[in-house]
Amino acid sequence: MTRPSLPGHPHFACREGELFAENVNLRELAAAHGTPLFVYSKAAMLSALAAYQRGFAGRHAQICYAMKANSSLGVLQVFARAGCGFDIVSGGELDRVLAAGGEAGKVIFSGVGKTRTEMRKALAAGIGCFNVESEAELDVLSEVALALQLRAPVSIRVNPNVDPKTHPYISTGLKDNKFGVAHEDALRIYQHAASLKGLRVVGIDCHIGSQITDATPYLDAMDRVLDLVAAIEAAGITLEHIDFGGGLGINYNNDTPPEADALWRQLLARLDAHGYGGKKLMIEPGRSLVGNAGVCLTEVLYVKPGEHKNFCIIDAAMNDLPRPAMYQAFHAIVPVTAAATKGAAEMTYDVVGPVCESGDWIGRDRALSVVAGDQLAVMSAGAYCMSMSSNYNTRGRAAELLVDGDQVHLIRRRETVEDQMRQELLVKG
Ligand code: PLP
Repeated sequence: MTRPSLPGHPHFACREGELFAENVNLRELAAAHGTPLFVYSKAAMLSALAAYQRGFAGRHAQICYAMKANSSLGVLQVFARAGCGFDIVSGGELDRVLAAGGEAGKVIFSGVGKTRTEMRKALAAGIGCFNVESEAELDVLSEVALALQLRAPVSIRVNPNVDPKTHPYISTGLKDNKFGVAHEDALRIYQHAASLKGLRVVGIDCHIGSQITDATPYLDAMDRVLDLVAAIEAAGITLEHIDFGGGLGINYNNDTPPEADALWRQLLARLDAHGYGGKKLMIEPGRSLVGNAGVCLTEVLYVKPGEHKNFCIIDAAMNDLPRPAMYQAFHAIVPVTAAATKGAAEMTYDVVGPVCESGDWIGRDRALSVVAGDQLAVMSAGAYCMSMSSNYNTRGRAAELLVDGDQVHLIRRRETVEDQMRQELLVKG
């Protein structure tokens, strides 16, 4: 039996009872490379990108992949070769972009706490724009740029105070979030920016949150931002571009976010209605480009029946897949090989990792037929998993593979304990 694709994962399919990424059998990958193992589909990334490209056809637009979602070099390479720019939040991320062949001129630098060193590095590289998040940052950036005899291209991140109706930890456009400047202060802050000799005001930006599954907050945020564009330009400050951030959600658990092209058809109609359809557009999608392009393969170590709970203990943990522990997030968990699990009775399990924390769970109350040695795939693991992974409990980071048709590229070797201890020193004497 061939099931064409798994919900939300167009390039992952179950064929004859086995899970595939494009044309590659995931059981065979787990056997060859060990677990936990991240496997990404290049076609899935490019088809997610194509939805945005369709939405922007005929427009002056730049897609800047928000690389915090997954900053592995092999992933960045896919987007750099597809012509994307990048949204970065640290000097380290800029180094990664350049190492992966990305263009500095297509980089935008977001984040509330840029250091002077990071500003100097980004200016020297010639990045496209600094998305400034406070008035104090404007002053420092101007000073740093003047010292280099440069003018820094800036956009100011405006907080439209729109509720994206997502998890509070990934909601960023409300008044009490640390991000951006308040809508009511924005015009004055733009006037201040325009007066600083080390800056060149080029744009405006907003980002209201992540895993947004409804178009309404985007439309509301657009209205709020475009009102400001009118006020700023009326004050004599010309804006070359408008950046609407990222945030579009993916299907983790019967979520129904709009397709990127459908969302942008609506947003562009609104933009045209405000008379700004001719402006250069920028966006910063992360999760929606990579989230459902990746899975994490893991092996069942033990099943542990209990009086109140049954536990399925796997070899992946919160250090590999931090989203459930951080945001109570849901990842679907499916068998890699349906046949292997046939013998076991279906039971309800909490799927947990080996880390010594009660918060180390990957899935709760999941119906599974599993025995030790079975492999499972944790779905929707392309975004905010490897990039948020850690070495907690001295666990090495997992290996990563990029599948392209029937080819498999190792894009990250499994981290050894020697790798982990390399920077550490014993006290002498
Ligand atoms: N842009 C900024 C400024 C962000 O903070 C984020 C993530 O929080 C993104 C873009 C990417 O968001 P997402 O992965 O939800 O598309």
